[in-house]
Amino acid sequence: MVGYRYLGNSGFKISEITYGNWITHGSQIDDDAASATVRAALDAGITTFDTADVYANLQAEAVLGRALSGQRREGLEIFTKVYFPTGPKGPNDTGLSRKHIMDSINGSLRRLGTDYVDLYQAHRFDAQTPLEETFQAFADIVRQGKALYIGVSEWTAEQLRDGHALAKELGVQLISNQPQYSMLWRVIEGEVVPASQELGISQIVWSPMAQGVLSGKYLPGRAAPTGSRATDEQGGAKFIEAFLRDEVLQAVQRLRPIAEAAGLTMPQLAIAWVLQNPNVASALVGASRPEQLAETVQASGVRLDADTLAAIDRALDGAVFDDP
Ligand code: NDP
Repeated sequence: MVGYRYLGNSGFKISEITYGNWITHGSQIDDDAASATVRAALDAGITTFDTADVYANLQAEAVLGRALSGQRREGLEIFTKVYFPTGPKGPNDTGLSRKHIMDSINGSLRRLGTDYVDLYQAHRFDAQTPLEETFQAFADIVRQGKALYIGVSEWTAEQLRDGHALAKELGVQLISNQPQYSMLWRVIEGEVVPASQELGISQIVWSPMAQGVLSGKYLPGRAAPTGSRATDEQGGAKFIEAFLRDEVLQAVQRLRPIAEAAGLTMPQLAIAWVLQNPNVASALVGASRPEQLAETVQASGVRLDADTLAAIDRALDGAVFDDP
């Protein structure tokens, strides 16, 4: 079963593998397949689910809400986000103003079919809105019981410090950041992780499998497998493109014997690697079918030894992006 970790400096525990439904629910896969994937996540012991109003233009929250209906609410940790416009292009349909936050939380709760979310996240930093306004709105939402904790996504170390100080002043807990992090994308290691450790903020890391690339299924010089994100012309293909370069794909193939020697599959090696970082509370994985999750969750509880970690770094030399 999946292990649990505390989220930041709080008493709130989340499953160390979180299931996220970007690109899959509401766009790449249909309602029945989405429900089957959520059921597979629950069966595997995942109780933490991440979505956003902007995913599939509001549909992803609704699909997740339907898939989770009937589950005991207290046994779930449900996360969503605010920032990006979801379709309408009115002047207040974006960012972290009080107006957009207040309108957005109500819509998210309605679509998710719940009275509260466990974690409400600022999907990006909004340089146009005073940070005090944003955190005052978050504090009000927490006091209204619509969200229990506050998180952010892709904030810099300095933004995290400012946000954390304000949250503390207002009596709310800013306990997480949601950045991209994988063996191939290590930007947060330089500044964000050290600052977060100091502040008591955890990382919930997205695309830990580099959108499926670290599963090893994309082979250099060969067409992408049918049904994979790289063939999803509705949206997915353009996001994964940056990883689909021959030198990256060749480096990823060098991980295959390392995974085998560790007794893991390549997807499991990728997830175990991010979970090795003590500042990571959870690997936020995607899955387009149930079998993928059944495989991935077995990375929970795995410890990679120093030789394996060094072999991974040698294999990926020159293919890692770590520039802040
Ligand atoms: P991953 O790196 O885990 O990629 C998931 C994709 O990899 C799956 O949809 C599937 O795609 C493929 N895959 C998964 N397991 C396997 C397997 N065992 N074997 C082969 N292929 C596999 O994460 P995502 O990029 O999906 O991101 C995860 C979540 O992170 C999102 O749902 C969202 O919640 C969050 N996120 C947050 C962002 C932010 O700005 N805060 C930005 C992006 C994501 P397929 O089968 O189609 O090939």
